[in-house]
Amino acid sequence: MFDSKVSQHSCEHCQSITIHETGIPDKLKVHFSFFDVKEMAKSCTFFNWTLRLPTASLLRRTDKLLLSVSDEDGNPCYLVASWIDKDDKYIISQDETQEESMKSMLHIFASDDNCAGKYIKPRPFTESTADPTSLRRCKEQLDRCMLLHKECKEMSRKSQTTAAPARLLYISKGSPVRLCEIPEAECPKYVALSYCWGKNEHQKNSQTIKANFKDRLQEVESSQLPKTIVDAIEVTQSLGLPYIWVDALCIIQDDQEDRQKEIANMANIYRSATITIVAACAEESTEGFLGVRKLAEAYGGWFRVPYRATNVKAIMATCYCPRIRSTTFFRSL
Ligand SMILES: [Zn+2]
Ligand SMILES: [Zn+2]
Repeated sequence: MFDSKVSQHSCEHCQSITIHETGIPDKLKVHFSFFDVKEMAKSCTFFNWTLRLPTASLLRRTDKLLLSVSDEDGNPCYLVASWIDKDDKYIISQDETQEESMKSMLHIFASDDNCAGKYIKPRPFTESTADPTSLRRCKEQLDRCMLLHKECKEMSRKSQTTAAPARLLYISKGSPVRLCEIPEAECPKYVALSYCWGKNEHQKNSQTIKANFKDRLQEVESSQLPKTIVDAIEVTQSLGLPYIWVDALCIIQDDQEDRQKEIANMANIYRSATITIVAACAEESTEGFLGVRKLAEAYGGWFRVPYRATNVKAIMATCYCPRIRSTTFFRSL
């Protein structure tokens, strides 16, 4: 399915990089001399890419390319390319930001029908972000995060003690979406939405004001909501979380006192959220963020490299390493 939409590359040079079940253990870390990389880069997209990393402008003849695999929850997830000098010290370019260093990591994934898919958990993006498979994967990621990540668990525990928003939208299958007032001592699990309002009328009409506040405690009609908020409600539902916080709806917009109080608490509101949806691709709230995505834009291209399970010597399968293009969660659904 995805093979035809995104340009892919594979050649004898990048076929020499084998990812093992346990990542690439120290003894299996692969080194390539600067000279070899330059030669291979003439015909290989992968090695050519390593010469365009932020650190590449600082390279000397004696430097080496180091490839390793980092894992998440015990599964190989990223192929990491780093340049090291003759004393094996990492070469770091001065203006290298965290985002820059992400660029030297390639996502590893395998498709369901690939035999490496048994060992490699990440899957390629589906074409539609609204696809049930995409939404199910989000839930799996969140469940894994809550179950396995110590730091995330600790953060989630701490957030239970910080001040929750005054109101949240209650989302439950089979009953209408409604506004709920949250008692001060409580901090339920909720999703926070970060999005661009834009200047559209729909956004204006969706706001909670003194005049519609009481009605909204019974029901918020979805016809009053712009698509970004409707999409966020759908995602919240599929994540199995009961509440979502949306500024325009949970703050009474023409009540100065309420606005001041809630805006002052904004940092806590985002910090206490179980997850924040960043609808970064929509400039107007009417655009929404669930729909068909351009795979070529999300990936930029990928490389095919062999995968080998440690105990099953006979299996030699493939996985894909697309370039990381986006860093926000929902753009990489
Ligand atoms: Zn190649
Ligand atoms: Zn986590």
